[in-house]
Amino acid sequence: MLSNNLNTKKKPEEEELRHILEIEHGEEKQTVHLKDRNYSIGRHPTNAIVIASQQVSRTHAILLRKGYANENISFLLIDGDLQGRKSNNGIFINGKKIHEHELKHGDLIQIGTDVKANYYIYHVSVSLKTKTHNNDSLRCKLFLEEETEVKGYDEICEKELNYPNLRRLASFADLSPNPIVEINQNGEITYQNLAANKKFPNLHKRKLFHPLFKDLSLEPINIHGNVSKKEITIEKEVFEQYIHYLAEDKLIRLYIFDITEHKLSKKKLEYQAHYDLQTGLPNRAYFNERLSKTIQLAKKHHKKMAVMFLDLDRFKKINDTLGHKAGDSLLKNFAKRFKSSLPKNGFVARWGGDEFTVLLTEIENIEEASKIARRILQEVKKPFEIEGQAFYVTSSIGIAIYPENGKEVDTLIKNADSALYLAKRNGRNNYRFYSPSIQVKSSESLKLENSLHTALENQEFLLYYQPQMNLKTKEICGFEALLRWNHPEKGLISPNRFIPIAEDTGLIIPIGEWILKTACNQMLTWQKAAFPFGKISVNISARQFQQSNFVVKIAEILKETNFNPEYLELEITETTVIENVDYVIKTLKQLLRLGVSISMDDFGTGYSSLSYLKKFPFHTIKIDRSFVNDLKDNSKDQEIISAVIAIGHCLKMKVIAEGVETIDQRELLHSLNCDEIQGYWLSKPLPPEDVPSFFLNFPEKLKNYNHKVIPMDLIRQKKNHAQDFK
Ligand code: C2E
Ligand code: MG
Ligand code: MG
Repeated sequence: MLSNNLNTKKKPEEEELRHILEIEHGEEKQTVHLKDRNYSIGRHPTNAIVIASQQVSRTHAILLRKGYANENISFLLIDGDLQGRKSNNGIFINGKKIHEHELKHGDLIQIGTDVKANYYIYHVSVSLKTKTHNNDSLRCKLFLEEETEVKGYDEICEKELNYPNLRRLASFADLSPNPIVEINQNGEITYQNLAANKKFPNLHKRKLFHPLFKDLSLEPINIHGNVSKKEITIEKEVFEQYIHYLAEDKLIRLYIFDITEHKLSKKKLEYQAHYDLQTGLPNRAYFNERLSKTIQLAKKHHKKMAVMFLDLDRFKKINDTLGHKAGDSLLKNFAKRFKSSLPKNGFVARWGGDEFTVLLTEIENIEEASKIARRILQEVKKPFEIEGQAFYVTSSIGIAIYPENGKEVDTLIKNADSALYLAKRNGRNNYRFYSPSIQVKSSESLKLENSLHTALENQEFLLYYQPQMNLKTKEICGFEALLRWNHPEKGLISPNRFIPIAEDTGLIIPIGEWILKTACNQMLTWQKAAFPFGKISVNISARQFQQSNFVVKIAEILKETNFNPEYLELEITETTVIENVDYVIKTLKQLLRLGVSISMDDFGTGYSSLSYLKKFPFHTIKIDRSFVNDLKDNSKDQEIISAVIAIGHCLKMKVIAEGVETIDQRELLHSLNCDEIQGYWLSKPLPPEDVPSFFLNFPEKLKNYNHKVIPMDLIRQKKNHAQDFK
C-alpha cells in the first residue's frame, strides 16, 4: 500500500509542479509536459499536439497557460481554434460538454469521439534525474514510499517509472480536498487519499460493504472514456461519484465530491420556485407547469379534466378587522383544510392573495367536478379557530372543463376565473361552470360597475313601490320599496343585476342610505295625504347589515327624516343572518329597541333552518315566490307553505307570500291562513306617481272577492292630493 504522506515529508529544496497531459488514441499514447504559453491540438501536422484521428478537427482545441510562477500556473482548454471556429465533435470534461474549461487535477478529457486524455498535476524534485523523451513527452522519476517501511528523504527509493505507473501515481492527489479511492478488480482498496480517510473513516473496516461501493460494477464498463458518474447518498450527505475504470491496470478509481450543500440549496431554490412559503401549497408557476403537462396527457388519452378557481368570500374584511397575522393564520388553516378535502386526482395551488386554483385530472363527467366543488364548499364552511375565536368563511368556485371550455392553460384559467366572477355575482358560497355567455356578462358587469360609481350623484336611481294586502281585512297593509336604476343608455335595470355589484364594490352603503331616506320621505308624503296603509318595507343587503354602525345609521336616518319607526320594516335575507349569529341577534335586538320591524325575506331559498326563526326576533316571514309559483292543491309547496304558516303563527310572526300572480294562488293562500300577499295579481311594483291611481282602481280588483271595500269617498279625497305624490 502506498502511503499518503508524499506532501508531509520534508520537501526537496527544489520542487516544482508538473502539468501532464496524457493522450490516448487507440494504441497510440502520448504524454505531454505542459509548460508553454499555448498549444494547439488537432489533426493537422502544424498543431503543437497532433492527434491523427479523423474524428478530431484540423485544429480541435487550444490550451492556454495562465500565470507565470510555478505555483500559479494553470491551463485553460478552449474548444476550437484561435479564430473562434468550433471543433466538429466537441470536447467533454468528465462527461460534460465544454467550450472553455480551466483544467483541474484528475480531469478526464474526451476530444472528438475516440481520443481520451488525462490531466494531472504533481510535485517533482528537479534535483532528481529526469530524462526527456520525444521532445515534449516526459518520462519522469517519482518518490515512492512503502507504508510499512517509511524511508527518509535521503533514502528515497528512486525508480524509473514506466507509462502505466506514471499514470497511476500521478493521480494520487493527497492535496485534493475531495476523496479519491482506488480499488482493484478483486474489490480490495488499493489507495485512499487523506480526504477519503477523513470523510469515510471506516472504509477499511467495511471494505466493499461500504455504501460508497454500493452497486459498483467491478467489471470495466464499455463506455466512452471508461468513465461513469453516479450520485450516492450516505446518511444525510449526498456525493457525486466519478468512476474511472483503468482497464489495463485492472483498477477502479473513484473521485468523490460532496454535493450535499449544493443539493440542499438547489432543493431550497426549487422549493421556493415551486411553492408558496405562507401556505406550503404549490404556487402559481408550479400550477401552470402542472396544468400544461396534464393538458398534454389529457389530449393524448382523450380525457376530461377540470380547472377550478376558488376565492374566499369577504377575506379582505377579516384581514382588515383582525389584522394580517390572524389573516395569515386563517389562510394557512384554510389551505390545509382545502387540500385535505380534495380527492387523489386533485392538485391545489395558491394563486395569490385569497385565490386558489385546483386541477382535477381524469374526471369522468361534469357531475364529478360539481360533487367535488360541493364537497370543498362544505368543508371550508366549517368554522376556523383563530386566536381562540371561531371564524366562518365561505368561498366561491368557478369551474372550466377541458376540452369544452378551453384547450390551453391560459384559456382554461381565464374561463374558470370568469365562472368564479359569476358565482360571486350570484350570491357567493356557490360554484359555477363556465359557459360562453359568461364572457359577455362579465364584461357587461364591468361596464355596469363603472357607471354605478356615478349613478347616485347623477340621480339615476328611483324607487318603485309594490303593494301588499292583508287577506283577512282585504286592506292594503304596506308597500315594499324596490330599487330601480334608470341607466342613461340601457334604461331601467333590474336590481338583481346591479345590487350584487354594488355589494362587492361597497357602493351599496351610500345607495342603501339613499334608499332608506327616500322611502321614509315618500312614506311621510303618503302619510300626510292620509293614505290607508301601514308599513313601508325596505330591503337591506347583507353588506349594509354587517356594517358595524348599521343601527346608528338607521337611528340617524329616522331622526333626520323625522319618521316614526313603527311604520318601517327592514327586509333581510337568510344569507345575511347565517354568518356571525351572535352579532346578528345583538343587532336585531338593537333594531327592535329602535322600534322598527324586521322581516325575513325570501324565506325557504337559503339555509332555511326553522331553528333560526326561534332564535331571531322577526316580525314577519316572507315566503319566497318560488314556493308560490306552482302552488296547487295538495302539492308539496302547499305542504311547505302550510307548515311555515303554522310555525310562524306559533312564534307570533306574521306570514306574507310573495309572487302571488293569480286568483287561485290568492285563494289557496287565504285558505291556508296566510296573513298577507304581495304580487302581480295585486299590482306590479309602481313608480310613486302611479300609487294614487292604484288605490283608485283597487276596489275594482276586489269586486268578486268577499272583501271589505275601502270607502270610495276616502279614495276620492286621496285623489285630490295626487299632486303631492312623488
Ligand atoms: P325581493 O326583495 O324578494 O323583491 C321581490 C321581487 O319580486 C321584486 O323584484 C319584485 O318585482 C318581484 N315580484 C313581485 N311580485 C312578483 C310576482 O308576482 N311575480 C314575479 N315573477 N315577480 C314578482 P325586483 O324588484 O326585480 O327585485 C329583485 C330583488 O332585488 C329583490 O327581491 C331584492 O332582493 C333586491 N332589491 C330590490 N330593491 C332593493 C333595495 O332597495 N335594496 C336592496 N338591498 N335590495 C333590493
Ligand atoms: Mg324584499
Ligand atoms: Mg323576496
